[in-house]
Amino acid sequence: MSSSASTGTKTVSGFDVQEARKIFPLLHVTAHNKPLIYFDNAATSQKPEVVIDALSTYYSEYNANIHRGVHFLAQTASQAYDEARIKVQKFIHAQSEREIIFTRGTTESINLVASTWGRKNISEGDEIILSVMEHHSNIVPWQMLCEEQKATLKIIPMNDNGELLLEEYKKLISSKTKLVAVVHVSNSLGTINPVKEIIRIAHEKNIPVLVDGAQAIAHDTVDVQDLDCDFYAFSGHKMFGPTGIGCLYGKLHLLESMPPYQGGGEMIQSVSFEKTTYNEVPFKFEAGTPNIADAIALGTAVDFLNSIDRKSASAYEHELMIYASEKLKLIDGVKLIGTAENKTSVVSFIIEGVNAMDAGMYLDTLGIAVRTGHHCTEPVMKRLHIPGTIRASFMFYNTKEEVDVMIEGLNKAIKLLKK
Ligand code: PLP
Repeated sequence: MSSSASTGTKTVSGFDVQEARKIFPLLHVTAHNKPLIYFDNAATSQKPEVVIDALSTYYSEYNANIHRGVHFLAQTASQAYDEARIKVQKFIHAQSEREIIFTRGTTESINLVASTWGRKNISEGDEIILSVMEHHSNIVPWQMLCEEQKATLKIIPMNDNGELLLEEYKKLISSKTKLVAVVHVSNSLGTINPVKEIIRIAHEKNIPVLVDGAQAIAHDTVDVQDLDCDFYAFSGHKMFGPTGIGCLYGKLHLLESMPPYQGGGEMIQSVSFEKTTYNEVPFKFEAGTPNIADAIALGTAVDFLNSIDRKSASAYEHELMIYASEKLKLIDGVKLIGTAENKTSVVSFIIEGVNAMDAGMYLDTLGIAVRTGHHCTEPVMKRLHIPGTIRASFMFYNTKEEVDVMIEGLNKAIKLLKK
């Protein structure tokens, strides 16, 4: 995509955004009779044609249950599902495909670790370290576990820019710490956290680390071996794949030591009323008929990501974020929320005297999709003493012209709504 210089539409970062837009059908629809401007990519990404086609091809050409049938369709579907796992393994640089468990998404991946590894390894008096900028899905499962096991959460604080305070983190670690669970990229602030350093510090004390990669996975290369994380959770729908599918990466020895998550078919080796023996990893964690079509289409999303120049896509997204931030700063009454040095393509902001939801609804009338509210990170909002923000989150298929339209819309919204 980045090499199609003939179109003459390349950005400063060398990314051909117009070429990219062509392959996402949904970017060409209208909303309220206006060309859609989709700035809600942190909630979910749009899907390229190849991913949509992969779903349709599965259902129209080789729909069958997997790992059971000897017939042609079952073999074809099984092979495609198994290949998808290998694609994901290579994509995140895991050592073995057995370290990849298909789940419904980040939320289920974290819940899986909490209810299996957590129940086995966390007991009364233990502590789990999270950060203040976690998404609710990396808070609530641990809170539930702590309630059950009489353990405690400890929270890494952040500064006003939205950067975690590593010195404070170090002080939280003690002999009671049994796990660190931290977000790679904050969905409400855009902060890219120094997870490699966070992991290194935890590992000095042999404490395992789970990384919530929901926002990181689409925007940068993830190498779980280089990070040395123990678990890495992410969702397919935020990286151009379908909803309802995601992954949990776990180091093999940890996965092998964990009890199963759910009981049922596929996760067993043999069943009798007296005793059941479990299947090997990863099948031990994939009870029942899995989400075959979406796993295969997630594999196609991985192929898609591998086919683009991710370096220039990522540089372009950064360029968009800086462009939007600079334009927003020029608007009287706008305050950027989340100004970390190391940031991904998210701009969160508030407008003095204007309710965030009202502004979002006004932008919607112009065909602009942004997100308003606490973005499932209520503790962040509490820390910053705000009820919520307006969030525009960019993907490489967004343009500076679209940002200009949003800025114009915001100026109009302020005139209309400012109290
Ligand atoms: N973690 C982060 C940082 C997120 O942004 C999200 C979703 O927005 C999640 C976890 C939960 O992802 P899902 O709803 O796909 O399970």
